[in-house]
Amino acid sequence: MSTPSCWSDVIFEAIERIRDEGATVLLLEQHALAAYEIADYLYVSEFGKLNMLGDAPKLLEESFVTAANLEGHLVKAIVYDVVGAPALVRDVAEPDCPEDGAVITVRATGVCRSDWHAWRGHEAVPLPHIPGHEFAGVIAAVGAQVRGFAPGDRVTAPFVNGCGRCEWCRAGDAQICPNQTQPGFSHPGSFAERVVVRVADVNLVRLPDELDFVSAAALGCRFATAFRALTAYRRVEPEDWVVVFGCGGVGLSAIMIARALGARVIGVDLSAAARARAAELDAVAIDVAETSTAIAELTGAGAHLTIDAVGSAATALAAVSVLRRGGQHVQVGLMLDADALAPLPWELLVAQELRVAGSHGMSAADYPAMLGMITDGLLDLRGLIAERIPLQKAGTAMMAMDNPVATRAGITVAVSDTGG
Ligand SMILES: [Zn+2]
Ligand SMILES: [Zn+2]
Repeated sequence: MSTPSCWSDVIFEAIERIRDEGATVLLLEQHALAAYEIADYLYVSEFGKLNMLGDAPKLLEESFVTAANLEGHLVKAIVYDVVGAPALVRDVAEPDCPEDGAVITVRATGVCRSDWHAWRGHEAVPLPHIPGHEFAGVIAAVGAQVRGFAPGDRVTAPFVNGCGRCEWCRAGDAQICPNQTQPGFSHPGSFAERVVVRVADVNLVRLPDELDFVSAAALGCRFATAFRALTAYRRVEPEDWVVVFGCGGVGLSAIMIARALGARVIGVDLSAAARARAAELDAVAIDVAETSTAIAELTGAGAHLTIDAVGSAATALAAVSVLRRGGQHVQVGLMLDADALAPLPWELLVAQELRVAGSHGMSAADYPAMLGMITDGLLDLRGLIAERIPLQKAGTAMMAMDNPVATRAGITVAVSDTGG
């Protein structure tokens, strides 16, 4: 079977055609032998690729598909078949290497609330799906067009990967590329032994020797996002007041970076455990209930820069409201559902020239400045990591995020058997 450029279009057109004929269509994974006996037609998928589609009794005669006869080698991955279904360890086919991409052997991968959002259906992903978008590892293979990287290189990648050709990519802003790909969202992610990075020359980042895989896995999403939020819109100066709403992965990263830049930092969170972590990172930690009075008392005229790492109407409004005149708010937390149109105090925005910006990760082009601060010893990522778990437990950790108040503050990193 040849490979069309867009599998999902082919699959959905074929399914529509079959349904129009009044037949039963089952969407299933490859081991469900029983389905061969009850369905008229079958669609068997492997990570968005169509492997079999057609008349069930005939297919049953011809062959029984297993992962082993798809591509050759098998690797372990954590997969869910439908939104909200258990994410379980499974054997999957070794991924193909794109001509311009690379296959990475995953050594460590962060478990992030964004993975949970996709799993819960807040963001559409191709199904079945492998989560995971913040990883570090070693290149296993590169495509023929890749010039700057080779097998054996230690690398990481941002969670947004650019096409490398559009005006935004050419300007170094791959994080807002309209043709972006995101491992763990647009294609299979890093809760697996192997992950694919497309347009490798644009999107891979070589790891300095002194940076271990576990620390590097914490960079690709939350830390890079925090770094950009603190440096892209208003460069934080020593003695500035920075207020961070939400002391999870992004928030704790922001606190650490802001402190390293010399700012005075306030961390706001509902969770006592998260506040304790913020305090360990040398922030003044306050409860949500005390927000406006405590911040006014501490800062006098208000905050120079606020970051909402939670993503809610209430925290965004609070963060904008505690700015000093001319202050900058950076919205990092995703604003979902009703919060997508959350109100802001526009009168203050105009009269006090407050600035509000969104921030969406960081491109590989901006990594050197961040890596420089790390290798110079200004930032120690190990302080952010709350827990190390085996790679095969990454799905369980993601599903445990159903509990909205984190029992553990900080980043959970899943590490392969071969070590972080
Ligand atoms: Zn993430
Ligand atoms: Zn682009």
